[in-house]
Amino acid sequence: MNYLSTRGGVAPVGFSEAVMMGLGIDGGLLLPETAPQVGPDALCDWSRLSFQDLALELMDPFVADAIPRADLRALIRRSYGTFSHGEVTPLVKVGNQRILELFHGPTAAFKDVALQFLGNVFEYLLTRDGGRLNILGATSGDTGSAAIAGVRGKARIRIFILHPAGRVSPIQERQMTTVPDANVHNIAIRGTFDDGQRIVKALFNDLDFKRQYNLGAVNSINWARILAQIVYYFYAWGRMSRGDPGFRIGFSVPTGNFGDVFAGYMAKRMGLPIDRLLIATNRNDILARFVADGRYAAGEVHPTLSPAMDIQIASNFERYLYFLVGEDPAAVRALLSEMDRTGCMRVTKEQLATLAGDFEAAAVDDARTLDRIRETYEQDGYILDPHTAVGVQAARHRADMICLATAHPAKFNDAVRRAIGIQAPPPPCLRGLLEKETRCTRLDATEEAVRGYLRDTLRGIEDQP
Ligand SMILES: *Cc1c(COP(=O)(O)O)cnc(C)c1O
Repeated sequence: MNYLSTRGGVAPVGFSEAVMMGLGIDGGLLLPETAPQVGPDALCDWSRLSFQDLALELMDPFVADAIPRADLRALIRRSYGTFSHGEVTPLVKVGNQRILELFHGPTAAFKDVALQFLGNVFEYLLTRDGGRLNILGATSGDTGSAAIAGVRGKARIRIFILHPAGRVSPIQERQMTTVPDANVHNIAIRGTFDDGQRIVKALFNDLDFKRQYNLGAVNSINWARILAQIVYYFYAWGRMSRGDPGFRIGFSVPTGNFGDVFAGYMAKRMGLPIDRLLIATNRNDILARFVADGRYAAGEVHPTLSPAMDIQIASNFERYLYFLVGEDPAAVRALLSEMDRTGCMRVTKEQLATLAGDFEAAAVDDARTLDRIRETYEQDGYILDPHTAVGVQAARHRADMICLATAHPAKFNDAVRRAIGIQAPPPPCLRGLLEKETRCTRLDATEEAVRGYLRDTLRGIEDQP
């Protein structure tokens, strides 16, 4: 399978190169040349498979040539062996709604589904083909801990995660800084999340530095992350349909960077009978407004109770845009430059109709998020985290939708306590964190401080075989 860029500036590359490249060298996002089709017979047969066996069938055509099937099977086993639930992503019934629990991984957030796999793929490719990878990222909480859990202890990989000192929740801080592996480096900067992002961006833009120190990213633009997330859409469908290829269902997806819901869109393109994908946003509703009127205009980011969705420009959205404009990189570039020039882009009437056929959207504010947590707890005894609550509220009274649960409620205890007065019991991975030893380096929020730290830490290591 070959991969192309949404902006048309990358010669077709194979799976290994696409994963190691992350963001396209032309600034675009990588996509497979075609979507492998899953016909009615396969849908029916695969609906009986375990998550891991289903993942193997679905991923194989995307990965073919790059990783032999037996090795891919082993990578998948290792990636999902760290999940605390035998089904990996179980589908549960809550009142008249279905909830797909994606939070049974090592950091209790759905990002583990993708990052456990990505970490193993990185290690496999680097060990086989040679090379080293030094992951650098800035986090406001969730992504950092899931990325660290994905690569801790892996050969040929080091990870450097910047977080704003004193500005992430105590649980999130502990999830990152209590990981004892020597390849994990936590940096608390004396500044904000935006400072962290600015520093990371500046270091990535210094191409000589980036090359010399083999810097890479793990943000949600990596194709392997989307690939891993396609699997649970098929898995959930199989659990509900029992293999009837005529069975159709929708999904409600709490959305930030559009990675999760784009994986659902890919599943649909591959032939999964998905009726509609519901983009559920919090008050940061740029995507909901776009689905309503075809006008994509960024505003200010408002902090909410669902912080992982406090995003205005969704990085994965460009992947959908590519399909919306008829797989035409020139048209993608034109829309992006319109956005650059005017702060806004607009699609045609026909495109808006296509969009309405693929997606619905709804924005849910903090007050209704808290109401949803409370009502679901009172009626069904089930505790939702605030991100999941946004999706459940957006799809209320819809028995034809599966709601994706993106975080364990114990990760967001402040919001849960505000809604129902008690905390959710923590899953095993969140227990005892406060007693564990922490490791973290404090630095000033400057490019020079972080550059110096990377240099000092990596000196010598890069020359080893
Ligand atoms: C990252 C995240 C989201 C948003 O997912 P996207 O793929 O960015 O749309 C939703 N909920 C939680 C808990 C997350 O960590």
